Parts: sequence; C-alpha cells; structure tokens
Amino acid sequence: MKFCSTNNREAIVGLKDAVLKGLADDNGLYMPVTMPKLPAKVIENISSLTFQELAFEMAQPFMAEDMTNSELSRIVNEAFNFDVPLVKVHDNISSLELFHGPTLAFKDFGARFMARLLGYFTKDLNKEIHVLVATSGDTGSAVANGFLGVPGIKVHVLFPSGLVSNIQEKQFTTLGQNITALEIDGTFDDCQLLVKKAFLDADLKNSLILTSANSINLGRLIPQSFYYAYAYGMAAKTNPEVIFSVPSGNFGNITAGLFAKAMGVPIKHFIAATNINDIFPKYLETAQFEPKASVSTIANAMDVGNPSNFARILHLYNQSHQAISKDISGYRYKDEDVKSVVKEVFEKTGYLLDPHGAIGYMALKNYLEKNKGNGIFLETAHPAKFLETVEPIIGKKVEIPARLQKFIEGESKTTSLTGKYEDFKNYLLSLR
Ligand SMILES: *Cc1c(COP(=O)(O)O)cnc(C)c1O
Repeated sequence: MKFCSTNNREAIVGLKDAVLKGLADDNGLYMPVTMPKLPAKVIENISSLTFQELAFEMAQPFMAEDMTNSELSRIVNEAFNFDVPLVKVHDNISSLELFHGPTLAFKDFGARFMARLLGYFTKDLNKEIHVLVATSGDTGSAVANGFLGVPGIKVHVLFPSGLVSNIQEKQFTTLGQNITALEIDGTFDDCQLLVKKAFLDADLKNSLILTSANSINLGRLIPQSFYYAYAYGMAAKTNPEVIFSVPSGNFGNITAGLFAKAMGVPIKHFIAATNINDIFPKYLETAQFEPKASVSTIANAMDVGNPSNFARILHLYNQSHQAISKDISGYRYKDEDVKSVVKEVFEKTGYLLDPHGAIGYMALKNYLEKNKGNGIFLETAHPAKFLETVEPIIGKKVEIPARLQKFIEGESKTTSLTGKYEDFKNYLLSLR
C-alpha cells in the first residue's frame, strides 16, 4: 500500500516511511493513495468475526507489502489483548466501551498497535528513535504505556502545565524508563505546535530520528477503524442501520470511522460531537473552516481549536462540503449540559458516563429524536479518570479500577520547559 500527502497526491511513500515520519515533508498528513475495500466475504460474516480476526482483515491491505501475515497476526494479538464491549444504555442507544485497555481510554488501541509497528520497522536500526507526542490528556498516557520498555525507542510527552487532570498526568509522569514527561508552560495547541515545528526543523532532522505518535500518525489512525467494524458487526445482528456518535477533539477517532466506512463497512451515519471548541460543527453549518485558540472545558481531551485530521476528512471527500455534510452531523455542548446529562443518565439507568462520552451520548440522543437508527456512542474513557468532575455531579464515590490505582500511587517526574521553540529545540539537541 502506498500513501500520499493531503497537500500533494503525488508525494508518495510506503507504510514504513509514513509511520516513521508521521507528517509528510510538505506538512500534510498521510492518506492511502486508494482506500482498500474489504472482501465481500468479510462484510457478509462481519457479525461472526472476533475483534482480532476483523482487525487482521482490516489491517492486512495496508500492511501486506511490508510484513508477513504471521507478523501482522502477532502485532494484532499483542496489541488488542482486552475486551471491546457494546453495552446497551437504553432504547436504541448503546455505549461502545473503548476503555478496557491498560490506560482506560480508547487511545490504547492506536498507541499499542503503533508501538508494535514502529518496533517492527526499527528493529534493525542501530540508532535510537525519538517519539514526540503532544497531549491534552489521554494521548500521552496511551502512547507512553504503549511504548514503555520497547528497546531503541525513547518517548517525550509534551503536556500543558496545569491543564491535564491529576490522574491523566500520573499515567505518563510516573513511568520512568524510556518515557520523559515535558511540562510546557502553554496550552495543548502550543504543545502540538512545538512538535510540528520540530518535525520541520532541518537541524533536528540531520541529527536525530524523530517520529510522532499523535493522532496524525497513520500507525495510530488505522487501528482505530477496527472497532467501528467490530461494533457494526455486533449491532447489525439486531438492526444494521448503525449510527456512530464520536466525541471529537483532534478528529482522529471519527476519521478512523470514516476509513471503516470507505473500506466498505455499511455504516449509515456519523455524528461529530464536540464541546464548545466547535470548529467542525461550525464548518458543517457555514462551509468555512476557522481554527481558533482552544478553550478549556471539563471534557479536556477534546479541547482542540485546530483539529489536525480535518485535512484528512477533506481529502477523503474530495474537499466536498456537501459530501461531508451528507455523512456527518455536528453537535456541540457546554459544560453545564455535560454535568446535567451525566447526572440524569446515572440516576435513570445506573450507567455512568465520563465527560467525553457524555457529549457523544447527548449528540446521539438529539440526533435520534429526529432520525431513525441503531445508535452507538463511543465511550472514550473510563469515568474514574475524571473523578474530580464526575464525583461531585453524581454525589457518590466512583470505584477506581485496580490498573488506575497503580498509577495514582506512583511518583511523578517531569521536566519543565517554557513553551518557546528554542528551548524545546535545545532540549532535543541535548539528546544527541
Ligand atoms: C483524545 C480523546 C478524545 C478525542 O479524540 P480525537 O481523536 O482527538 O477526536 C475524546 N475523548 C477522550 C477521552 C480522549 O482521550
């Protein structure tokens, strides 16, 4: 499989380069030159395949030129060693719980797969690889945990000082080994900008092997498409008119869903659910894409003012606002809405939403008031990751899963940086 840049369809690379480079030289994002189609046999049997079987079928066309089937099978089985349950909440609304991995968030899917992919591609190099990752919350922990202890790879996690929840921070500042946490005096967008600049910096390029693990990396994006196909298969047993509502920030998750649809999974519709950082819902309404500085909310992993993967959505739909609007609806919610829906759903059904999933739930519920379908919202994180927010809302203690408790008890270590590019560059140059 070959990949091109969203800025230039002629700038073509193989999978290895796309994964190692993360971002194309022209600052574009990588996309498959043509979207592979799943064999009809796979679609027909989609409801009877296991998650791992389906993941293999979906990954295979992207990876076949670069590795054997048995190598791919090993990567899939090692990466996805946890459950992916679809839980009915009420009526025609179900929650796809993507938080059963080691860091209790959906980003484990992409991070664990990419870590193994990168390990495979770099096993014969005799130079260290540096993974740079900017996080607004969960990316850092998923990537750090995904790569923890992988030989030859060092991970540098940039996070906005004071803007990440306590528990989230613990999950990437306490690991040690090959993981360094960089506390940046700035916002998530500042962190992301530092990473983007570093990749375009010729001095760095000449002295270090840098790669990204943000949702811009195809190695993370592709595996996120697997659970859409799997959930579709489970849901289609009762009603195949499946609608996915995706709590969105940088739009990697929903883009992966659009990949699954483009590969032939007959998903009926998507909902992009955002907090008040509503650049995409605005785009649907006005056909204008106007990035802004991000505003902080209680669904902080979605506080993104310039969603990177928008470029991929445009590319996938040939820049057509009309085609995009046909497949995706947009909704946005304020913190007050999140609080009241978490309380209401908990009291009525006993199901505890996290602040991100709550936005997906609300959007789905509002959509289904006017449209028919079998609704699935993505529960992107376990509510115990947001204790400070969730406990006061429901007025009850939330039980903390053991794998989260382990992080809380660890000791944090961070390196502070100003947010000026020169400081970040000097830090990186000191790693040579
Ligand atoms: C990252 C994240 C999101 C947003 O996902 P994108 O792919 O950036 O749109 C939503 N919820 C949680 C809990 C996250 O960590």
